[in-house]
Amino acid sequence: MTEPAYRIELKPPDITAYRSGNTGIDFVTTFDSGKSGPHVLVNALTHGNELCGAIALDFLFRQGVRPARGQLTLCFANVAAYQCFDPSRPGASRFVDEDFNRVWSPQVLDGPRNTVELARARVLRPLYDTVDLLLDLHSMQHATPPLVLCGVTGRGRRLAQTVGVPQWIVSDSGHASGRRLLDYAGFADPAGVKTALLAECGQHWEYQAAVVAIDVTLRFLLAAGAIDPEFAAPHLNLEPPPDQKVIEITDAITMKGNNLVYEADYFGMEIIERRGTLIARDDDTEIRTPYDNCVLIMPSRRLRRGQTAVRLGRIVS
Ligand SMILES: [Zn+2]
Repeated sequence: MTEPAYRIELKPPDITAYRSGNTGIDFVTTFDSGKSGPHVLVNALTHGNELCGAIALDFLFRQGVRPARGQLTLCFANVAAYQCFDPSRPGASRFVDEDFNRVWSPQVLDGPRNTVELARARVLRPLYDTVDLLLDLHSMQHATPPLVLCGVTGRGRRLAQTVGVPQWIVSDSGHASGRRLLDYAGFADPAGVKTALLAECGQHWEYQAAVVAIDVTLRFLLAAGAIDPEFAAPHLNLEPPPDQKVIEITDAITMKGNNLVYEADYFGMEIIERRGTLIARDDDTEIRTPYDNCVLIMPSRRLRRGQTAVRLGRIVS
């Protein structure tokens, strides 16, 4: 299956002014209110080709954002990949050596492997260790409705509901191919207090993804008590949905064979009515929906053995 063509409506912002920062880590800036409160971090460019997060951070800097309490950190994560962004090959800059969002287990972080992404992860790890509330800004291959991934903890789901956008909340435990930042250490600890959300703001290069990223970021910072409502109010351009819906991921389909072929041209968020519907073949293995009204989450076109092909979810509210 070939990648459908999407227009490049977004321009990658020039972030060189943010390199020096003030933390001793390149492309990381922390503002301290001087008052007690949580350490809140907004993370962009976990994937180098996902421009909306960089646009949202650039927006916050230009608006002169400062925390009302606690500390606020703005972090551009995989800058090395971002710097390779080429509008003629826009998908190629997702990462340099490996996916930055699959390295967040102690085995990998403390292991012997050396890649561009692991080097950056090891530099950022002590920073993330000090964070109480984290928003990781992403975008998707396909133009499907924005969604927020909240992990499996109740506090993640509650935070997503307090933020109030986007409409779809997806509760899941990640990928067989490696741990996400969302699930790193205390963020996924059932008994912990640290909380992380991952927002998928829309298609990678559509204009609206940046609008959503700014809106979600402002509402996240409001929910965290990190900014004053007066700062956010002039820039909240999207109506929050009347009710959010929660999808619990029940299955992550990992490609096991050499050739996985979908039965239809799925884009994501399709609701497959009947249990047992054939949705893909992985070599000779049939993949069928395990229950009625099964939702397909982000079917991937970058299919590789051992990687997640598609996730299946159930609407619970
Ligand atoms: Zn991403």
